[in-house]
Amino acid sequence: MWSQMIAFSTPPLGKQQKVLSVVFLVVLPYFKSKLHSIYNREREARLQESLWIHDDGRLDNLDSFFHQGEASQTQVEASTTEASNMMRVKKKIRAIIGSFYPWIHAGNEGLSFAYQLLYLLDATGFYTPGLHALGIHVCRATGQELMDSSSRISKIRSRELERLRGPPWLKAMQRAMVSCVYTALDYAQTGLIAAVFFFKMMEWWYQSAEERMSAPTVYPTPPPPPAPKVAEDGIALPSDRTLCPLCSQKRVNPSVLAVSGFVFCYPCIFKYVSQCKRCPITLLPAGVDQIRRLFHDL
Ligand SMILES: [Zn+2]
Repeated sequence: MWSQMIAFSTPPLGKQQKVLSVVFLVVLPYFKSKLHSIYNREREARLQESLWIHDDGRLDNLDSFFHQGEASQTQVEASTTEASNMMRVKKKIRAIIGSFYPWIHAGNEGLSFAYQLLYLLDATGFYTPGLHALGIHVCRATGQELMDSSSRISKIRSRELERLRGPPWLKAMQRAMVSCVYTALDYAQTGLIAAVFFFKMMEWWYQSAEERMSAPTVYPTPPPPPAPKVAEDGIALPSDRTLCPLCSQKRVNPSVLAVSGFVFCYPCIFKYVSQCKRCPITLLPAGVDQIRRLFHDL
């Protein structure tokens, strides 16, 4: 994009400038987004850790479930010390990124902002640090330069057409195909915009027609889905329906796990799902965003 916007009277981009342009436009943003996702994961992990520190006595029962799992985990870890070493190094790198990324991000954003402000105030000729590093000035192409470039392109194309070899009929066919490609290239941008506009207009047309057509019909309430199957290895349901299956005490902050429909205390099910990633009763895979708080007194 930069090369298109540069005035044609100036010399074209050198090879090094092209490579660095790719680095600034593709490679650096890629690493930045990677760092950002690592930082986000690290922050989430820290948040979860801080949640577990504030445990209360109600979860003792629940802890026994996890300790069973942890015991088997330690055995596995002992047999693969190397893997755990790697994990530790990885964890350390992630922790370092987690603590340094905000500074990198703030520095980068601040520098970009400073460049844009200085560019607005006419204090610098570059509006991003990347352009400054490459030494590229972006400016508008004049009409003369645009005409020069189009005449250069047509010259190149006519030379290409002259280079066609073979019997006359093959030449004619090749010529037709090449000119088809050229026409498609010339009108690709306009055609794409027109296609998007056409698509959006059709969408709007059919949507509004559909809305006009559909009369407000009242359907009968569908029957509730069948009760989920209790897994054999899962936790047994308590006989008293008001108890939480995890802590076997009266439910506090009743919350339903959307994948199965069973109701638990919010702290119990949150802790269980975030560590085991499944429903404790049906063993269906579940995430913490599938926990819904239930309200009955509003
Ligand atoms: Zn509970």
